[in-house]
Amino acid sequence: MDKLYGTIFDVRRFATHDGDGIRTTVFFKGCPLECAWCHNPEGISTKRRPLYFPKKCIHCGSCVAESEFGGVTMDKERNVHLDITKPEDWDNIMEICPTGAIAWDSRKIEVNELLEEVRKDEPFFKYSGGVTISGGEPLLQPLFAAELLLLLQYYKIHTAIETALLVPNENVAAVLPYLDSIFADCKIFDEQEHIRATKVSNVRIKENIEFILTSEKRDKVIIRTPMIPEYTANDENVAAIAKFITNIYPEVHYEILNYNPLASAKYHLVGREYCFKENPKRFTKEQMKHFAEIAVSNGIKNINIDE
Ligand code: SF4
Repeated sequence: MDKLYGTIFDVRRFATHDGDGIRTTVFFKGCPLECAWCHNPEGISTKRRPLYFPKKCIHCGSCVAESEFGGVTMDKERNVHLDITKPEDWDNIMEICPTGAIAWDSRKIEVNELLEEVRKDEPFFKYSGGVTISGGEPLLQPLFAAELLLLLQYYKIHTAIETALLVPNENVAAVLPYLDSIFADCKIFDEQEHIRATKVSNVRIKENIEFILTSEKRDKVIIRTPMIPEYTANDENVAAIAKFITNIYPEVHYEILNYNPLASAKYHLVGREYCFKENPKRFTKEQMKHFAEIAVSNGIKNINIDE
């Protein structure tokens, strides 16, 4: 059988927010949504690109000397600037950098190699925990995701996915049998508001939510809404989502996640602009409780608040 490769941008160990117990989370590269508040903006593009990490830089200038086409320059303060449109030999430049301050944002990896990497954490999974695939959107690479999940299940490792579900239905069907937990986002109910916030329609997302909530895995599904000021965190949106998902499956599990102001920190690395000039604060316990009450009064029986 041909080897199966996927593109990932991170493997994070000892995560505690990506499912039950201690987890190792694999971040798949590429996402069809462009949420204005995305936590992992380096994972949006499907293309590999070089990144510059200023904190690692010792300003030695080796990268500039190696640059043939002006893709790497230095300003008066000896800060490095990358122009990734220039046809540089980026591998060469990365090799010359003594501190890893210039590095690819992602890597291509063979599925068995990735399996071995995540299995190093198997001792931590014995009592609770496992592997979560996240992104980006893991279901943009359905064959790679399905094979990884199948192998993890063979080794009796608990599997979970974090997905926004904006993929063809067959991509969802391909991984469903191999999943123990499914965290699926439903960020905004109104289609026009969804387009404003994420640049894409939510019609297919709703279809796929219906698909998983009518599947035999429906009790393993947790529908999630991140509470983003000015975008998702309002009573009308929470009420509409609650009605929509309880109409499909009254026993559905629903979770609301508090806003994470730390997301803004990565934006300068990838040349994107964060949605807030003044970063809002996280919601208070009382505010989160209020959103949960809105969900419950619109039919949700099983609610979780991630504060
Ligand atoms: S080679 Fe690396 S450490 Fe040296 S200036 Fe370039 S980015 Fe900084």
